[in-house]
Amino acid sequence: MVIDLKLTDKRPPCPDCGNESVKIKGYVAKKINHSILNDKGCVLVYHARRYICPICHTTYYEINPFVFKRMKISSSVILCVMKDLTKPSETFVSIAERYHISPTTV
Ligand SMILES: [Zn+2]
Repeated sequence: MVIDLKLTDKRPPCPDCGNESVKIKGYVAKKINHSILNDKGCVLVYHARRYICPICHTTYYEINPFVFKRMKISSSVILCVMKDLTKPSETFVSIAERYHISPTTV
């Protein structure tokens, strides 16, 4: 399953100078593993919005609720993996197969 998404444009102020009238610089498509819904793999194609401040020229990403910086798996998947790791019956391999990630990632 592939989910293609963009977040609502909330125009967060510039983190450097606080300027509130920033512009959209563009979008960066990020593929995020979000296999928590069922046994099938799920990929979010998240079009991350980048802003640019016309005053200090700082560029920055919008804040998003589902992935940490530089991660390829969603924060929900990380949480599920952590929960499953507490069960004595689970192995790294069984958890990896469930969420379509490698045992090393687990
Ligand atoms: Zn600025």
